[in-house]
Amino acid sequence: MVSRRILLGALMGVAAPALAFAEGDGPAKPSLLTRKGRRTSSALKHQAGDKAALDQAMAKVKPMEAEPAPAPEAHAASPQEVTPDEALGRLKQGNTIFSRGGANLMLPTLARVAELSKGQKPFAVVIGCADSRTAPELIFDCNLGELFVIRVAGSTVSREGLGSIVYAVEHLGAPLIVVLGHTKCGAVGAAVDVATKHAELHGALHEMVLPIIPAVLEAQEGHPADLQDAAIRRNVRDIAGRLKVADGVLAEKLEEGRLKIVSATYDLTTGVVGFDA
Ligand SMILES: [Zn+2]
Repeated sequence: MVSRRILLGALMGVAAPALAFAEGDGPAKPSLLTRKGRRTSSALKHQAGDKAALDQAMAKVKPMEAEPAPAPEAHAASPQEVTPDEALGRLKQGNTIFSRGGANLMLPTLARVAELSKGQKPFAVVIGCADSRTAPELIFDCNLGELFVIRVAGSTVSREGLGSIVYAVEHLGAPLIVVLGHTKCGAVGAAVDVATKHAELHGALHEMVLPIIPAVLEAQEGHPADLQDAAIRRNVRDIAGRLKVADGVLAEKLEEGRLKIVSATYDLTTGVVGFDA
């Protein structure tokens, strides 16, 4: 026999478990419901088959997703709830889960969306490449509202990007900045071609690779077997180094131990992020 819960859920066009009523085929189970929910349940017994009445009654039952979210004050009680090392530990743990194939595939609940509409408190800023295979929320097994992400091909930081970073640190209290590159980065590869083969890129593409050229030249000095790979790692280390002195707010937080800036490289093949700290 099909559960009434499933039938009613199907009639309403919503997933049955999302509905807050406790009626099954067997003996009455302990109700998780409000009084209103029980009244609705009782009424339904007398109106089975009458879909209009059913719909009307069901409209009074609140989906569990719509439960009130916690007060935003509770979410943002302290400006510094997570230390830089704790934030780094979370990212490392999240990537370990992802690279072992155990990433959380659950989409954010509506309750979480509602909660986040009242404010955000990301625990890390990630400066990443725009490459579609390197989405930070996925590779660090994070949810909405946890990462403040700036992404440009080549993981470079423009003046506007720096402003975004400072905003996240100063106003949102993010205690960690990660500059994330990745293996086989096409933008760095293009910069290598420009620097070593005098390749020419037009317009905005040229401007995109220009900030990466110094890292290519530095990497070249070490005569690496794989210049592109060496330049990728050099590039993120250089950017992290420059960020440490790029803005007074960041410098002050670093000095106070309330901020950490680290570089890292994501391996497209293994899914593992190698941190330089
Ligand atoms: Zn890339």
